[in-house]
Amino acid sequence: MENIVIVGGGVAGLTAGYHLSQKGIKVTVVEKEDRPGGLARSFGYGDFIFDVGPHRFHTDDQKVLRFIKMVLGPDSVSIPRSSGVYFFGRYHEWPLRLSTLFKLPPSLTFRVAKDLVHRRRRTGSSFEDYIINMYGQTLYDSFFKIYTEKFLKHNPAKIHSDWAKAGIDRAVIDKKMQANTLFSLIRKTLLPKPVETEFIYPTSGGIQLFSDRLAAEIEKNGGEIRLKAGVAEVAAGKKKVEEVTLADGTKLNPDLLIWTAPIDLLCRLLEVEEPRLSYLSALLYNAEVKGEPTMPYQWCYYGQEDIVFNRISIPRNFYKGTAPEGKTGINLEVTCREGDLVWNDPEKLSSVVIEDMRRVGLIPSPDAVKALHIEKAVNVYPIYELDYLYPLQRILNHLSYIGNLLLLGRTGTFWYNNMDHSIAAGMDAAEDIVSSQRQGIHPLYHRNDFWA
Ligand SMILES: Cc1cc2nc3c(=O)[nH]c(=O)nc-3n(C[C@H](O)[C@H](O)[C@H](O)COP(=O)(O)OP(=O)(O)OC[C@H]3O[C@@H](n4cnc5c(N)ncnc54)[C@H](O)[C@@H]3O)c2cc1C
Repeated sequence: MENIVIVGGGVAGLTAGYHLSQKGIKVTVVEKEDRPGGLARSFGYGDFIFDVGPHRFHTDDQKVLRFIKMVLGPDSVSIPRSSGVYFFGRYHEWPLRLSTLFKLPPSLTFRVAKDLVHRRRRTGSSFEDYIINMYGQTLYDSFFKIYTEKFLKHNPAKIHSDWAKAGIDRAVIDKKMQANTLFSLIRKTLLPKPVETEFIYPTSGGIQLFSDRLAAEIEKNGGEIRLKAGVAEVAAGKKKVEEVTLADGTKLNPDLLIWTAPIDLLCRLLEVEEPRLSYLSALLYNAEVKGEPTMPYQWCYYGQEDIVFNRISIPRNFYKGTAPEGKTGINLEVTCREGDLVWNDPEKLSSVVIEDMRRVGLIPSPDAVKALHIEKAVNVYPIYELDYLYPLQRILNHLSYIGNLLLLGRTGTFWYNNMDHSIAAGMDAAEDIVSSQRQGIHPLYHRNDFWA
C-alpha cells in the first residue's frame, strides 16, 4: 500500500494512522478542525481546560488499555467514578441504586414496586418498549421519557431500542455496574462490596493530550497531519475512490481511503443516494466559576424538563489541574440541531443557563460565573430513528462496491460508541490492512460488533 488517506483526525483515524505509520505505511490524515481530537478534543481559556462534555478513558479490553497507557505515559491519573442524576428536585447517585427509589416521593416508590411485581412485557422495538420492559412504566414516565425527549428532541416511541441499549451503556460506562433492569438494580445493590469503576484522565491539556500525542507520533513516523483541511469533494468510479479534494483545492489520490467523518457526508460527496440518517449537535456552555465545586460528581444528568441543560461536567473532579486554585470550570451541555434557532443564536440562552445553575445549586448566585464561553460541536450523537437500520444497510451495501474505501469510527459508521471502541476499531483496521497487504485481501468495511 503506497498511500493511505485518513479523513478525520479523531481517535479512530489517529489510532489507525499511528499503527499504519508504525509499519512504515505512508498516511495523510486530513482534519477539518484546527486541531486533532474530534469529539475528544479540549478547549483552553487561560488556566481553565474543558473537554467536549465529560471525557475519560475506561475499557475492559487489555490491548486498548495498554495502548492508552503507552500513549499517555506518566501523564495520567486513575480516578474512581462519581456521577449523579438530578430529578424530583434533588441529586441521586448514577447508576441508580436501590436507595434512590426510597428517596422518591412515596406514591412513586409504591408504583415502581408495583411495576416490579406486575411486569407486562411489550414486544415492540422502540426505545419506549425497551425501557418499560427494563425499568417499568413508572420510572419510564417520570425520568427516562422526559430526559430522552429533552435530550433527543424526539418522541421516544419513534426511537429505536438500540439507542437505549447503547445509551445506557454509554452513560454507565463500566459493564460491571450496568443495571439495566429493576431486578438487576436490586441484585447489584445487594452485592456485599460495591463495584468501583476506575477512569483514566490525562494530567495535562485535558483529553486532547491523547490525540495530540498520536498526531505527533504519526508525523515522527513520516506521516502527514493536515489541519483545517476539510474534504470538499470525493471522486469515485464504480469500484474505486480516485481523488479526494480538500477545501483549499489540494488533490490527493489515495490507494486506500479511510473515512471517519460522517457517513452521510460521504454519500453527499460521492453523489450517491443520501441516507436518511441524522445527528444531534450540542452547544457547550463552559463556565468559569468562583469557588470550589459544590458537588463531588464528575458529571451529572438533569432529567427535569424545566432545566435547560441535559448534563453538566466538572473537569476539576477528573483532575484538579484543569482549573486554577479556588475556581471551578463547569461544562453545561445543551443538545440541538445544527442550524436551528438555539444553534444560530446560543448567546440568547446564556442567562437561562446561569439562572438554572443557581436553581440546581451549582452556584450560590449568578455573579459567581466570571465568564461563559460557548463552543459548538457538530454531529455529536447519531439519532437512531425506529427504521434507521434500513437506510444504513442500504448505503453500506452501496459503498461496499468501492474496493479502496474503509469506514471507521463513530460518525463514519453511525455508531454510538466510546473512545475505547473507536481505538479498538482503529487498531483492528490497521492490523487488517497490514495483513491483507500480505494476503492480498482487502477490508471493505470495518466496525466493532455493536449490532451483532
Ligand atoms: C459529550 C460526549 C461525552 C463523551 N464522553 C466519553 C467518555 O467519557 N469516554 C469515552 O470513551 N468516550 C466518550 N465519548 C465518545 C467519544 O467522544 C467518541 O467515541 C470518540 O471521540 C469518537 O472518535 P472518532 O474518531 O470515531 O470520531 P470523531 O471524533 O467524530 O472523529 C471524526 C473526525 O472527522 C472530522 N471531520 C468531519 N468532517 C470532515 C471533513 N469534511 N473533512 C475532514 N475531517 C472531517 C471531524 O472534525 C472529527 O475530527 C463522548 C462523546 C460525547 C459527544
